[in-house]
Amino acid sequence: MTAKVPSYYRETPQRYRYEGNSCKECGKVFFPPRIACDPFCTCTLKPHKLALAGKVKTYTIIHIAPPGFGDEAPYALAVVELNDGARITAQIADVPLDKVRVGLRVRIEFRLIQKDGHAGILQYGYKVVPE
Ligand code: ZN
Repeated sequence: MTAKVPSYYRETPQRYRYEGNSCKECGKVFFPPRIACDPFCTCTLKPHKLALAGKVKTYTIIHIAPPGFGDEAPYALAVVELNDGARITAQIADVPLDKVRVGLRVRIEFRLIQKDGHAGILQYGYKVVPE
């Protein structure tokens, strides 16, 4: 079994609704949500829905995929800086690998991420696609 039910359930707000949080004082956005802005700060955090677009900061091409993703390899995995400053790690979909580059403008799309066998969980989440 590749998809674990407890972690899948806990990550639903992030995977399905793109919920992070942000600092009321300095405005930094965190994803996944944090419990404090920094360890020495007493500032308060508020819920934040992520910006749905951004640009590729860095990426790599995965040739040997982990279990559950083997039939998708090779694929591009990127760190994307969203327009609100949050950084996410996501697979880049719908673009030939030779067209992936740093600075590529992308938007978040809700996609099927993983299947846990024939009768198991269908795990949905986000990928990014070119704008
Ligand atoms: Zn802060």
